[in-house]
Amino acid sequence: MEKQAMYHQAYGKYAYPVGPDTLRVVLRTKKGDLQRVTVVYQDRYPGGPEYSKVMERSAQDEMFDYYQADLTLETARFAYMFWLDDGIEQIFMNEKGFFADPPENTEFQYPYIAPRDLWEPPAWSQGALVYQIFPERFANGDPNNDPADVEPWDALPTRESMKGGDLQGILEHLDHIVDLGVDVLYLTPIFVSPSNHKYNITDYYTVDPHFGDLDDCRALVEACHDKGIRVVFDAVFNHCGYEFFAFQDVLAHGRQSRYWDWFAIADTPITTDPPNYLTFARDIWTMPKLMTQNPEVREYLLGVAEYWIKECDIDGWRLDVANEVDHEFWREFRRRVKTLKPDALIVGEIWHEASEWVQGDQFDSVMNYPFRDAVCDWLGEDKIRAGTFAQRLAKVQMNHRQAVNLAMYNLFDSHDTARFLTLAGGDKAKLRLAAGLMLTYEGSPMVYYGDEVGMEGENDPDCRRGMIWDKRRQDRELLQWYQDLANLRRTRPVLRTGNCRTVMANGAANVFGFCRYDDQDQIVVLVNNSAHERQVPITDSFWPLGRPQSVRDLLTQDAWTDVIRLQPFSMAVVAERR
Ligand code: CA
Repeated sequence: MEKQAMYHQAYGKYAYPVGPDTLRVVLRTKKGDLQRVTVVYQDRYPGGPEYSKVMERSAQDEMFDYYQADLTLETARFAYMFWLDDGIEQIFMNEKGFFADPPENTEFQYPYIAPRDLWEPPAWSQGALVYQIFPERFANGDPNNDPADVEPWDALPTRESMKGGDLQGILEHLDHIVDLGVDVLYLTPIFVSPSNHKYNITDYYTVDPHFGDLDDCRALVEACHDKGIRVVFDAVFNHCGYEFFAFQDVLAHGRQSRYWDWFAIADTPITTDPPNYLTFARDIWTMPKLMTQNPEVREYLLGVAEYWIKECDIDGWRLDVANEVDHEFWREFRRRVKTLKPDALIVGEIWHEASEWVQGDQFDSVMNYPFRDAVCDWLGEDKIRAGTFAQRLAKVQMNHRQAVNLAMYNLFDSHDTARFLTLAGGDKAKLRLAAGLMLTYEGSPMVYYGDEVGMEGENDPDCRRGMIWDKRRQDRELLQWYQDLANLRRTRPVLRTGNCRTVMANGAANVFGFCRYDDQDQIVVLVNNSAHERQVPITDSFWPLGRPQSVRDLLTQDAWTDVIRLQPFSMAVVAERR
């Protein structure tokens, strides 16, 4: 038995409440090491009965198995230990270590499920379908507010391009968004800024006049709400724009400016090439970094967060460069935002392992770039096979508690990456698989505007082309695929909020499969990323609620009894045939 590989902690992603009297515990062990893991548990105050439960192996990544079990005790006070069996040796594991005989005490303890610690991301955000819009490029609804010298809509964009997209354009194309089955609209920044991306903000309190005004903003949010769509704005609080009033004051008055401490400026005179002040990334002089340790800066930015909820009734914030702003700022941000709107969503932009930010005191969710990397490596560029892909997804899954996984913004491209279709060499079959996987997998799938009609583009700025609205140039078949998948998420809620288990990860065949299930429903998804037809037996192990007599594909209506036949580069979404 590999004791060195075993890990548990009685908090965080290894022990968290999933109900007022139910605790989920997770144990990590060496992959393939154990035959059976049992958790023995009781009230943490002695005298009550002792219970035991066999733990389920819920995931496997490259190195480890993960076992989990839900423990229910009326008192909501837990003491527990694990009993490990590898077929040869049986030992106990508790907080102090490993024991051949049942130890007297010093179990792991989860002292009490306090009601306020029962935290989850907002229910509406779990499994929600998100649509990301880059407003300058989505639709030009009002030519009168265009910037000077707009270029033709279909010209390939440069870093400086202006095309005239605006809020009115989004409003006019709301039907497209509704038809796609979108639950949440996420807009990249819309406040006054000289750039087309508007991540260098001049005035956080005003809609960029090229996009519209406060009334347009209110009208858009209201129209979305009427259609049952929530709206998330982009909060750029790590840095401001060069034209931001406080930075301009510093430029004008130097150290005498009352805003000097809002920034980290080495000396006067202030220079831009290279900048002698802290900026976003490396020396981007147009984006001076804001000092959130300064109480005035904090108050200013928190005021911005509150203002747009009050004025426009937005439903959440996506936080730009979230991991370069201090944790305490985000804790305060959360308190202020949630006080105003308890079910507001807070999503951080973090491209890497981000579990520290989604413990309940800061964010509800993060943009799931590790998911993107795995999907691009497997389906987009064939860098890995299905086995490795499954391990990479499992690793991400085990980094978070389940409710967070359901709210993660799963994506395979964005305004900051090449579009998936371009990455995949224009292979539409691959895009269909990536979309099919993302829209059935655990999480909150985020569709980047235009992917659904087959738009292409290399990395920024090429991935920010003008949306294709000419139906003859849209891939309508692809759009139908997205719509069918989104529709399925609505009719079968298990795809939104159900559990998610890998059921197949065959590297040689290059087929990945998973099951979404809850108490009532179960759906198996199989993805064949190979040029060969694959026949997958409908085995018992695919079906946590029991193997159905026969199954049908919910998208193609093909029916199967013993074996599912997967065409080259195709997928199946199957459930019991009723
Ligand atoms: Ca316009």
